Amino acid sequence: MIVILHPDTDKSGEAYAKLLGYLHELPGIRVRTHEEIGTQQVLTELYLVGDTQTLDESRIESFEVVERVVRVSREYRILGRHKNDHRPGYFEYNGVTFGRDEFHVFAGLCAVDTPEHVECTMRHLKEHGQVCTRMGAYKPRTNPYSFQGHGKLCLPYVFDLAGKYDIRVIAMEITHDNQIAEIQSALESAGNPTGVMLQIGTRNIQNFELLKSAGRQRKFPVLLKRGFGITLEESLNAAEYLASEGNRNVIFCLRGIKTSLGDPHRNLVDFAHVPVVKRMTRMPVCIDPSHSVGSRNSAPDGIMDIFHVAAQGVITGADMVLVDIHPEPAKALVDGPQALRLEELPWLLDDLQIARDAYKQRLALKDKQRIEDEG
Ligand code: PEP
Ligand code: MN
Repeated sequence: MIVILHPDTDKSGEAYAKLLGYLHELPGIRVRTHEEIGTQQVLTELYLVGDTQTLDESRIESFEVVERVVRVSREYRILGRHKNDHRPGYFEYNGVTFGRDEFHVFAGLCAVDTPEHVECTMRHLKEHGQVCTRMGAYKPRTNPYSFQGHGKLCLPYVFDLAGKYDIRVIAMEITHDNQIAEIQSALESAGNPTGVMLQIGTRNIQNFELLKSAGRQRKFPVLLKRGFGITLEESLNAAEYLASEGNRNVIFCLRGIKTSLGDPHRNLVDFAHVPVVKRMTRMPVCIDPSHSVGSRNSAPDGIMDIFHVAAQGVITGADMVLVDIHPEPAKALVDGPQALRLEELPWLLDDLQIARDAYKQRLALKDKQRIEDEG
């Protein structure tokens, strides 16, 4: 059960103390407090954990500081979408809003290789109005002899260049919790010219200690990639780990699932799950067409599979697209065969816009439908 307090409730006040006094007396119930500190106001939620079945909802709602009570009807207590749950499903980070009516493309390098490639990519992104990118510094690789990323060595120039080209958010995968501190200290040394969204990859989605570490800090939002060999429910529980530790600025990313039934795509594309994830949770949803498809193959219509599947995800309401681009894909140290060339970026952006507009038209059609039904 979630007890949502009025915004800016005074926690040193008598009214708040009265409520807490009542809740602490409830047998077998633990109370966990969560605060969201926004630019305008502080929102406080109290999580009642334990057997809440018999609790008197209206009694709790009668306390002066309580705005409303939400009964958690299923899994994913914090990130889940519950009955009468009007909590927002969006957040802002470093001047960029995720979810709600915003749509973002994170095009960039799967793995940072040279400062020249980082600069060239970021300059290109800026020229096309982009303020977000992906840049891999820590790469989990199947083969121990493969390039594992430059790690913290590349962070200073990646962050400096991001500042130079007005990039506000970089999605960057982490594979170990000490990388969070490395990223934070490199950002500080560079004078915080940009922001980082911590990416937890498909291979680490059930690394519960990593999830807890990323969840305990609230400085960076987290982009969590669906596990490629576990159920959707298990992946969503992983997201809930982050929130249960305190960080609810989580974006869930579909990136395909591993099965030979998806061949010849690298993974079986799962973007039909965009609306499903939105129904089950309040997280913004991202799609990664690059790691789903894994190649630059085109259909006979001349459109790359990467574009086709991205459009499929966006037309069903994806809020964000993560995509590999590279100035010289043939020289990329990781995932070159699936990288788009820089000159293909404007084409991709225009194509995604068509799909986004089509999604909005579909929403408008649905609204019209409802009016006609009611009339
Ligand atoms: C990536 O985005 O670079 C990556 C490794 O993705 P995934 O975890 O989905 O394989
Ligand atoms: Mn990759």
